[in-house]
Amino acid sequence: MPDGPLPRPERPERTLTTPEALQAAGLIPAAALPGAMAVAERYSISVTPAVAALIDPADPADPIGRQYLPDPAELATAPHELADPTADAPHSPVPGVVHRYPDRALLKPLLACPVYCRFCFRREAVGPEGGVLGEAALEAALGWFARTPAVREAILTGGDPLMLSPRRLGMILARLAALPHIEILRIHSRVPVAAPERVTATLAAALAVETPLYLCVHANHAREFTPDAMAALGRLHAAGVVLLGQSVLLRGVNDSPEALEALFRAMLRARVKPYYLHQLDPAPGTARFAVPVEEGRAILRALRGRVTGLAWPVYVQERPGGGGKVPLGPDYAANEA
Ligand code: SF4
Repeated sequence: MPDGPLPRPERPERTLTTPEALQAAGLIPAAALPGAMAVAERYSISVTPAVAALIDPADPADPIGRQYLPDPAELATAPHELADPTADAPHSPVPGVVHRYPDRALLKPLLACPVYCRFCFRREAVGPEGGVLGEAALEAALGWFARTPAVREAILTGGDPLMLSPRRLGMILARLAALPHIEILRIHSRVPVAAPERVTATLAAALAVETPLYLCVHANHAREFTPDAMAALGRLHAAGVVLLGQSVLLRGVNDSPEALEALFRAMLRARVKPYYLHQLDPAPGTARFAVPVEEGRAILRALRGRVTGLAWPVYVQERPGGGGKVPLGPDYAANEA
């Protein structure tokens, strides 16, 4: 049967984790199956029902599908691409902890995510089987936080911490919040947009801690802010969680002033303050998403005067070797001089 335009599929009931399931759901054509299977041997695949319902299979350039559907180009590693582009491993004092800056540190309690983004900077590490910290390792990680008083901010990332059970996540947050030197808790998550049904009242209650809790929602396109996602974010806001947005500048997803304007406006409508716009980290097989820094600056410059200052994130790039983030501008004042 020839591969014509695919009809919009029914919303699947389950998360799709294999190329065969993607094809059966009508998200990739039969001709794409061999290439997708080759990718699946190396990298994890996961498309939740919420994300599947957003993908337009009739559009091969669909900005949602591009983020999540495997592409054989992922198997070509460019010379500058690195397995650990942010250098987590050399900055890990104990398993599950990354300490790059004096006053804050990451805790990665698991490496599973609701979806596996094709441009992920931790793509060599994340996966459904990967990296749940067992009891002893979690105790060791929490012990490190307890004996490191210079750390004021504990940042839960992964993987996606909202994939933990509310009970386990609540326990981890409570243990960190009980440390006298921890002033701020932060969680990085894709769940509110990729699997909003996971943001239950029980989960929101687990996040309602005394210590200020900031939740950075990872979203890259305005269409990700569906009514279900907005409702999930509303539940988090009602629980006292401060919502921030982080995005990656991605070719074919949000690489225009119009796409970024729509994204940042959608965030603000969801009570999410755009925080960071990341330059793509050079993870293996992600070159098709790269946007040159000068082009990124020009796109942001074009937003000047068009959107409220509330909608401006900081455009940043991770220094190679784990050297931390550097702001990339644009320098509006110099531009005006
Ligand atoms: S949710 Fe985050 S950690 Fe997980 S695959 Fe996507 S970018 Fe990577």
